[in-house]
Amino acid sequence: MNQLWDQVLDKIKEKIAPQSYKNWIDPTKALSVTDSAIEIGVPNKFYEDWFFDNNYIIFIKDSLKQMTGRSYELIFKVGAVPEPSEKTVSAVLTPGETSNISVQVSPQRNNAGDALNPKYTFENFVVGASNQFSHAAAYAAAEQPGGSYNPLFVFGGVGLGKTHLLNAIGNHMLKKNPSLRICYISSERFMNELINCLRYEKMEFFRKKYRDQCDALLMDDIQFLAGKDRTQEEFFHTFNTLHGSRRQIVVTSDQFPKDIKGLEERLRTRFEWGLIADIQPPEMETRIAILKNKAESDDIYLPDDVAIYLATNIKSNVRELEGSLIRIGAFASLTGMEVSVDLAKEVLKNVIQQKPVSISLEDIQRNVATFYNVKVIDLKSKKKLKILSHPRQVAMYLCRKYTQKSFPEIGKTFGGKDHSTVMHAVRKISQMAQEDPVFKKDLDSIEKIVESQNC
Ligand code: ADP
Ligand code: MG
Repeated sequence: MNQLWDQVLDKIKEKIAPQSYKNWIDPTKALSVTDSAIEIGVPNKFYEDWFFDNNYIIFIKDSLKQMTGRSYELIFKVGAVPEPSEKTVSAVLTPGETSNISVQVSPQRNNAGDALNPKYTFENFVVGASNQFSHAAAYAAAEQPGGSYNPLFVFGGVGLGKTHLLNAIGNHMLKKNPSLRICYISSERFMNELINCLRYEKMEFFRKKYRDQCDALLMDDIQFLAGKDRTQEEFFHTFNTLHGSRRQIVVTSDQFPKDIKGLEERLRTRFEWGLIADIQPPEMETRIAILKNKAESDDIYLPDDVAIYLATNIKSNVRELEGSLIRIGAFASLTGMEVSVDLAKEVLKNVIQQKPVSISLEDIQRNVATFYNVKVIDLKSKKKLKILSHPRQVAMYLCRKYTQKSFPEIGKTFGGKDHSTVMHAVRKISQMAQEDPVFKKDLDSIEKIVESQNC
């Protein structure tokens, strides 16, 4: 390589961190050096940006002038050298923003962030009462980015389809407008990139990427930003820039904005500007439909009774539901056995047994009230009639048996009763169940109802 260029490189080396040099300079190459111009081959546009963003252009020009007394033009040839393989930079992070993680620096030609998963579309998202609202909102945002639902905040528990919906939005937007620059990224990766850019003084590059070169920002798992003040600040400015120019922002979280501890008030307020939609665990029919869809797309034979068995036993996480189906399918195909309820029981022995049943206090109150033909509101009242106090005590007993709630918590949902009232009820009903076989039979029936209704 040309000697003059080598000297320039040595000067750059003194100025920047070795890892940065490795990431950004190593893959480039001087293609030609004349008396007035240097042609630099870079793998893609981000490298050219990097030289500009970091003022290296001026630095290089100044250095050349010092060395030769002449002015040089720098000409970048994008794509003239091959893309490097992904490099991992380990960054030492600022306190509070985790430590010792590796940061992926992979300048690429396509949009910022992660690649969208083409498998997650609106077409294969099963809609039921539990997710209807989020689905409709997501679809509307994808149809009309930057419209009425901006920002869109989707929240729900683990494995309920948030990431699926977010990808579906991106895929749909791209289908409608292939030139749209969509930035789909997890908040964790956003933070890692930010830290890397702060460390290597590439903030201009970072800002350009997320504010100027992004038409729609789809950020997954925003709850991860809790307590990460510097990242929240950068996200706040990113948000303002994008929102101010009517570009669509969609974020997902496992919690409602108000419940995310460590989330700055100003961000919380902004999330409330648009639409907040939640995804609840799917109801029985939706779970069965999801299973059937998945079985069809993965070519797994799934008889109805097996679908019902799975949907009855795995309720609160679609990922687990699908995972169980895949396990059963794999087991059947490897052993040559037919898919049946017995096979499902065998394969999922551990999964299903370990799962605590999730029954809510409200479920119990409702079922007990129905059994004794009284109103839920009366169970919660202070009325002391025996026809009410007995069912009330049974309900309290079952709340203690089927949930993890404390005595005071249970008391609170019974119209603010004292914890000692609940303790007394639990003791009394346990004793009655031992001593009174007729009552025991009733209790057994109620328990069966509570357990089976919970699907
Ligand atoms: P989350 O991001 O909320 O934790 P994911 O979006 O990763 O959940 O969903 C977990 C799995 O369940 C994915 O494979 C997804 O495709 C699937 N899934 C969730 N909800 C649905 C649905 N309504 N219809 C079809 N598949 C779903
Ligand atoms: Mg997710």
